[in-house]
Amino acid sequence: MSRVYNFSAGPAVLPESVLKRAQAEMVEWGGSGMSVMEMSHRGKEFMSIAEQAEADLRELMGIPGNYKVLFLQGGASSQFAMIPMNLLQGKKGADYLNTGSWSKKAIAEAGRYCAVNLAGASPEGAFSVPSQDSLKLDRDAAYLHYTPNETIQGIEFPYIPESGEIPLVADFSSTILSRPIDVARYGLIYAGAQKNMGPAGLTVVIVRDELIGEPLAGTPTMFSYGSMAKAGSMYNTPPTYAWYLAGLVFQWLKENGGLDAMAVINERKAENLYAAIDGSDFYGNPVDPGCRSWMNVPFTLADPALDGVFLEEAKEAGLVSLKGHRSVGGMRASIYNAMPEAGVEALIDFMGGFEKRHG
Ligand SMILES: *Cc1c(COP(=O)(O)O)cnc(C)c1O
Repeated sequence: MSRVYNFSAGPAVLPESVLKRAQAEMVEWGGSGMSVMEMSHRGKEFMSIAEQAEADLRELMGIPGNYKVLFLQGGASSQFAMIPMNLLQGKKGADYLNTGSWSKKAIAEAGRYCAVNLAGASPEGAFSVPSQDSLKLDRDAAYLHYTPNETIQGIEFPYIPESGEIPLVADFSSTILSRPIDVARYGLIYAGAQKNMGPAGLTVVIVRDELIGEPLAGTPTMFSYGSMAKAGSMYNTPPTYAWYLAGLVFQWLKENGGLDAMAVINERKAENLYAAIDGSDFYGNPVDPGCRSWMNVPFTLADPALDGVFLEEAKEAGLVSLKGHRSVGGMRASIYNAMPEAGVEALIDFMGGFEKRHG
C-alpha cells in the first residue's frame, strides 16, 4: 500500500522523510542499543534529544532567551485551563476574542476560573475576524487570548492584535511553524503538536519568564508552569517519543530552509487552492478573503448531494480525509507544512475533473 495525500486537520500528515528516519532509528537509536521509546527520560541520550529539539525550535522561531519552552502533555485543550490558572496572578478577569469553535472552547473553560471579557468577536454569521479598532480591551485584564487560526472555520487573523501592556496569549495549534512570527509580541504561545509539529501527545508552550508565577490555589502541580519550567518539562515522565519525533520535524524544517521557505511554499499552496475554488461556480469558500487560512481550507460543493460522491472519488484518487467539519459542512483540506505542493496540485486537478464529470 502506498502513501496517500492526507488532508486531515489533525492528527495530520508528517514529512515522509521524517517517518523513514524514525523507522530506521526505531529499534536502536544512535548506538544506545535501544529505542527512544525505551530510554530513561533522564539519561544522557534522551537529554541530548530533548535539548536538541528545544534548541532547533528556538532557532527556527527565533525565540528570545527570556522565554521558556515547555514540552507538556494534555493537548491544547489543557492549556485552556492552565492559562487562567497560571496567568491570572490575582487579577479577576481576562480578555478573549471569539472567532470560531476553538476560541469558544477556550472561553468556556476560562469562565470556570475567571471573569471573561469578550473583547471582540467575528460578526454574527460572518467568516471573518474583528478589526483592531473594534476591540474593547479591559485595562485590568490579566491577558488577551485569541486564536490566530481557527482550524474548523478556516479563518486566520491577518494581524497581531495590539494589547498594549496586557500580555497577548495565542493558540497557535494549527498555524505554528507555518511562517515566521515575532515571538516577542506574545506573552504566551501554545500549540498541540499533532497539526504542524509532530504526533499527538505533545503540547508546546512558549512563555515569557516574567509571566510564570504562583498559580491559583489548588492548581495541580502538573498544571503549574512554574513547576514544569523548574523541572525542564520533566516533573514527571514527558511524552518522550513525541518529543523526539517533533525534534525530527524541526530538523526537517531547518534542512528545508526554515520558516521563511515554509511561508513561501504555504502561501503558494493556499493561493492556488483558493484560486481553484474561486474560479468555479461549482465550489465555494465562505471565508472573507482577507482572513483566509493558509493551513485549513474549507470548501463547499454547490450541490451538497454530491458531497458523498466527491469524498468517494477523491479517496479512489488517493486524496483522503477531506470531509469538512459538520459545523461548516462540505469539505476541508488541511494543507500543513508536510503536505507537499504536489498534493495540493493533485487535489486541484481532481476538483477540476470532478466538476467536468458532475457539474
Ligand atoms: C486541534 C486544536 C485544539 C485542540 O487540541 P488538542 O491538542 O486536541 O487539545 C485547540 N485549538 C486549536 C486551534 C486546534 O486546532
